[in-house]
Amino acid sequence: MGALDGQVALVTGASRGIGRAIAVRLAADGAAVACAGRDEAALAETLDLIAGAGGRGEAVVFDVTDREAVAAAVKEVHTRLERIDILVNNAGLTRDQLLVRMKEEDWREVMAADLDGVFHVTQPTAKIMMRQRAGRIVNITSVVGLMGNPGQANYAAAKAALVGFTKSLARELGSRNITVNAVAPGYIQTAMTEGLTDEQREALLATLAIPRLGTPEDVAEAVAFLVGPGGSYITGTVLNVSGGLYI
Ligand code: NDP
Repeated sequence: MGALDGQVALVTGASRGIGRAIAVRLAADGAAVACAGRDEAALAETLDLIAGAGGRGEAVVFDVTDREAVAAAVKEVHTRLERIDILVNNAGLTRDQLLVRMKEEDWREVMAADLDGVFHVTQPTAKIMMRQRAGRIVNITSVVGLMGNPGQANYAAAKAALVGFTKSLARELGSRNITVNAVAPGYIQTAMTEGLTDEQREALLATLAIPRLGTPEDVAEAVAFLVGPGGSYITGTVLNVSGGLYI
């Protein structure tokens, strides 16, 4: 028996990196996982990993910035899988630049995907969870949203906004038996961070209490805890998974 047997999860950004690890982990715990992303071929690889772990997954293709497409996709997931017990808002991107050089499109693209996208997916899903009188929502923010980072004013602003969003929703939805939490990863080894030079990597490791980059599985563990039986009385928190980058 898995901790999430009989439950349905929707994970955005499940085509690679942290989202893929979360999808595989929740499926291994017994949930049927709707794996969302824009790249169908990459989502198919996630489904193969889920099948390999003996789990059940389905692909759902949408761009989180497209409000109508998201609403239709959430409805379709609900119709096909009959419930949505768990939502993990993981899709996100960076467009790093110092503020004085930042193009307006770099600002808007990050806000559209990292902040508006979470609103688009959460609103229809929360309505379903409210009718079920049960649900778990986890928003993937970043320690950068808590501590700032030069060159990431757009990304830090969007991720900090997710913290306020998480705390407000926790207060709105608690009486319906829905918990809402955030997970704030530090530097995790994925496509998003593979551009680091060796020098940058060394400098970074020197700032960590635990001197290694995190893995997507480190983040998936934290999410699995929050959405599992042990997380039922935890809401409105930000769980920092950063090896002590931010303390
Ligand atoms: P990746 O770049 O490896 O993956 C990003 C995922 O988000 C992909 O699945 C991508 O899907 C999806 N995505 C991006 N934009 C959109 C969009 N407009 N619509 C739908 N899906 C989209 O990133 P990570 O796995 O590293 O990051 C995952 C989350 O963790 C992000 O929110 C990120 O900000 C956060 N994070 C990551 C850290 C790290 O060190 N890696 C640190 C702190 C936080 P597609 O295949 O369609 O492109």
